[in-house]
Amino acid sequence: MTLCLTPEDEPPAEAGGSGEAVNVLPFRRPGAGAVARPRLHLSPPELAGGEMEALEETLRSGWLAPAGPIPKAFETAFEAVSGFGHALATSSGTAALHLGYRVLDVAPGDEVWAPTLTFVATVAPAAQMGARITFLDVSRETWTLDPELLRDALAQAAREGRLPRVVVPVDLYGQCADLDAIVAACDRWGVPVMSDSAESLGAMGRGRAAGQGARLACFSFNGNKIVTAGGGGALVSDDPGLIASARHLGMQAKEAAPHYQHETTGYSYGFSSVLAAVGLVQLRALQARVAARRAVFARYVAALADLPGISFMPEPAWGRSSRWLSVMLIDPERFGADREMARRALDEAGIESRPVWKPLHLQPAFRGARSIGGGIAAGLFERGLCLPSGAMAPGEQARVIEVIRRLARG
Ligand SMILES: *Cc1c(COP(=O)(O)O)cnc(C)c1O
Repeated sequence: MTLCLTPEDEPPAEAGGSGEAVNVLPFRRPGAGAVARPRLHLSPPELAGGEMEALEETLRSGWLAPAGPIPKAFETAFEAVSGFGHALATSSGTAALHLGYRVLDVAPGDEVWAPTLTFVATVAPAAQMGARITFLDVSRETWTLDPELLRDALAQAAREGRLPRVVVPVDLYGQCADLDAIVAACDRWGVPVMSDSAESLGAMGRGRAAGQGARLACFSFNGNKIVTAGGGGALVSDDPGLIASARHLGMQAKEAAPHYQHETTGYSYGFSSVLAAVGLVQLRALQARVAARRAVFARYVAALADLPGISFMPEPAWGRSSRWLSVMLIDPERFGADREMARRALDEAGIESRPVWKPLHLQPAFRGARSIGGGIAAGLFERGLCLPSGAMAPGEQARVIEVIRRLARG
């Protein structure tokens, strides 16, 4: 069967949140390429080379189920890449987070603490399980969960006898949270840490891979992430018991009996063999992609950092960001235009950009949730803009730079 695309089949331009728009191949309008320039996307999926062969081999093998040797091979490869002893591949990053909350026994009324500056999926499963979410502000140095704020808030919570069931730091836009400090603060009170590293596969913090040091970590292979399988995720841990429990729950909690005995109910969160075959090929490209994204970021800085009012997401001396997304800050007084004017100017030039995540404590879905600080995150949302960060011809990135430089002159 041939997939025949018409001009109506262009990918949606406005769906989803930061980096969420492109979960389909960036199909080009047939015949129109010479006239209209193709729209430039934030983080389009890239092929590593070899996916077609892997897919064909998988389909011919007859292994299509979310079980068997291919997801197993993906998990083994992911253990090596993530540096964790045990990996469970799942149907999405959100599913991995959900299973993480389940194996940490999050129950209705429990507190779950997370940074406010993140994608909704970090806490959505916990909220759906009846947990009460507390949002904490991020630090200016990393834009990730502020360890000092966390330390003070935990001491206060311990005094009040309301310690959280779990703290969930987020590795944002390719940058690791200061996990050593966060884990130390949580260890003091016996609170487990689950790292949402969905945006930061390939990133390093204090010499270790993203998530290392946490009890559990979650990753995503959605179409916009640095490595994609066309969808999927992983839950990883050094504790084999936690991953075994998650595997059981993610496969409908079937007990070993021919009639399927159930002591509890689970989920259908398995990772398809077809996607695992793609993911295996993609994982091999990770280091090259980190290098490419860091080069994209460096080109933006070289071409734009001299403009008044323009700065970029910082990188702490102890970290090495994957620069999954290049994020720019605009001070409207000094630049002469605000973040929204820049976003619209880029949009008119056929370039997708997106505001930094709207802090979750400002989202109507979490009205009434407790927040501790939040001013830094709110400021980053006001002034922060995510720029196209995937594979681009030099001329394409020059278009982005030109629009922003022109705006500064205007
Ligand atoms: C993408 C993302 C997720 C969810 O991953 P999916 O695979 O899309 O379910 C979770 N947390 C963060 C911070 C993300 O960016």
